[in-house]
Amino acid sequence: MPPSLTAPRVMEALAPEYGPIEWAPRYDPASELVYTILSQHTSDLNSGRAFDSLMATFDSLEAIADAPVEAIEEAIRMGGLARQKAPRIKAVLQQVRQEVGSFDLSFLAEMPLDEAKAWLKRLNGIGPKTAAIILCFSLGLPAMPVDTHIFRVARRLGLIGPKVNADKAHDILEPMVRPEDVFPFHMYLIRHGRQVCKAQRPRCGQCVLAQRCPARPQLER
Ligand code: SF4
Repeated sequence: MPPSLTAPRVMEALAPEYGPIEWAPRYDPASELVYTILSQHTSDLNSGRAFDSLMATFDSLEAIADAPVEAIEEAIRMGGLARQKAPRIKAVLQQVRQEVGSFDLSFLAEMPLDEAKAWLKRLNGIGPKTAAIILCFSLGLPAMPVDTHIFRVARRLGLIGPKVNADKAHDILEPMVRPEDVFPFHMYLIRHGRQVCKAQRPRCGQCVLAQRCPARPQLER
């Protein structure tokens, strides 16, 4: 039986496949929070369109927080699940404004990472994944969002056990690599999950990890 794979070994194998990964800021943290709600259960294309439409309609987070839910729903309709997402967006923006006095969440970058995560997870409907997305994509902190692709690939590779759930996987995967490698590790696993280690019919024959992947024998049967 081949020795178990480690996260650094996985990174080493995937780096030449997917190339250098550069971090660049996306939105400010509160806007990222809104974007992340819009991205749930929909494609990047649709969530991007819904976010653009929302910002074009209201112009500011302040205006969204004060808008009627129906107007928010109308603005994000093309993103799907608008009826569920509109009240969540309004409620979380109101909660942020009430607690912080503004929508400036840049103070999170000055906090220890665990405290910043805990602060975000106190907000209604914010779990480990959304908290990590905000800290990672918006503030460049070494937080590891675990989406469906990362969860599947990590489980197949044996980096997490079969009983570990997605929420718990955040705490397990993140410390497996150096803080400066968390973002590329996240990106490599997502790309690998999308392009090679697909949910249905993984392309094990084209996978650079195949020789050491514990899941391959079952998946190729
Ligand atoms: S060998 Fe197959 S199951 Fe394992 S990581 Fe590669 S594609 Fe996924």
